[in-house]
Amino acid sequence: MSTLPDPALGAAVKAADRAHVFHSWSAQGLIDPLAVAGAEGSYFWDFDGNRYLDFSSQLVNTNIGHQHPAVVAAIQEQAGRLCTFAPGFAVEARSEAARLIAGRTPGDLDKVFFTNGGAEAVENAVRMARLHTGRPKVLSAYRSYHGATAAAIHLTGDPRRWPSDSGAAGVVHFWAPFLYRSPFHAETEEQECERALRHLEDTVVFEGPATVAAIILETVPGTAGIMVPPPGYLAGVREICDRYGIVFVLDEVMAGFGRTGRWFAADHWDVVPDLMTFAKGVNSGYVPLGGVAISAEIAATFEKRPYPGGLTYSGHPLACASAVATINAMADEGIVENAARIGEEVLGPGLRELADRHPSIGEVRGTGVFWALELVRDRGTREPLVPYNATGEDNAPMAAFAAACRASGLWPFVNMNRIHVVPPCTIDDSEAKDGLALLDEALTVADAHTV
Ligand code: PLP
Repeated sequence: MSTLPDPALGAAVKAADRAHVFHSWSAQGLIDPLAVAGAEGSYFWDFDGNRYLDFSSQLVNTNIGHQHPAVVAAIQEQAGRLCTFAPGFAVEARSEAARLIAGRTPGDLDKVFFTNGGAEAVENAVRMARLHTGRPKVLSAYRSYHGATAAAIHLTGDPRRWPSDSGAAGVVHFWAPFLYRSPFHAETEEQECERALRHLEDTVVFEGPATVAAIILETVPGTAGIMVPPPGYLAGVREICDRYGIVFVLDEVMAGFGRTGRWFAADHWDVVPDLMTFAKGVNSGYVPLGGVAISAEIAATFEKRPYPGGLTYSGHPLACASAVATINAMADEGIVENAARIGEEVLGPGLRELADRHPSIGEVRGTGVFWALELVRDRGTREPLVPYNATGEDNAPMAAFAAACRASGLWPFVNMNRIHVVPPCTIDDSEAKDGLALLDEALTVADAHTV
């Protein structure tokens, strides 16, 4: 730990936060945010000297770990040279980041439109698809998360819905494969895949193919539960898009840049979308950055006709310099390969072994450093440990479980009835094993709520 404990400063930080910071996704009066003093690698710590193993990567973001020295140095160096410059100029950090990203993205996704994060990337991908096709509708999956801005929140297909949610014109939801809670009552992956593709094509046909601009999917849905698609599904979606002239958008904001053990999750299945959104892992969130990687065909639409969209901070030099350093460090240090190996050798087997002993684990699924444990009250009926969108007493079992993790020094990503085991891609064997041991202890709290 490079910061000495300082409880008085921690208390002051917390007091100012509670007085003035309005937090996302929260009832402001019911939250008690931890005051963070520092972070390094796979750990962060508070002002009282408590250290936490970060199994959340801060919203599945810090793929390269906290405070990677080369990335910190690159931001400092760029700040000394050129802090900011408008998007209309060619800037070294920006063009180099775009070149490196285009060099890693699949197929001919060779142009990059930069944004400040994932939701803006989704907004712009949808706009590009609509302008390219001249069609209005976008199909997106239930059990998905695409961001919290205007179009992105309507595309998001998780059960968070509000009375004020009017839906958005032109957004149509469909079911994507999820065998454990199969919307198609399938019993095998093959059945799930075949039925999901038939359902998607029926949806396209009944919406009217000439009205559908895009199908957007997270390559591996993340926030909604890390559901690795069955073999053949994404290739089948590609075929449907080709058959009807629909733009295929893969959202790799969470799954991209090493998280699944490949540079992009699409690489597992050799699928090439027309547009691919990214953010988070591109620079581990050290400075806000996201973007859309664009195919040659869609880029050509805007060759002579202006693209009507832009952001003051698009391709911000500090963000781009940190992306260049991140991508180079990931390549030089074998960080993507490390994520794949840790998943295969430590996290996958370790989590399955926990499932053998803990009745609260209904299913373990994932790849790389991207895993979910689906917690249930009853393995037979698969009743979730807490209902979707549970609050207060209804959510008590998950709240108690999360508190047990944190008290032991483990910080997982907790969402509804699931915990997501999503440490940095840089995590080593002993850290991963320590985390599994802490999880083992905390799961007894969840087990106490099973029938
Ligand atoms: N798309 C996906 C797949 C995401 O996981 C997220 C955020 O978690 C977003 C989009 C939105 O990104 P942001 O929060 O940077 O706007």
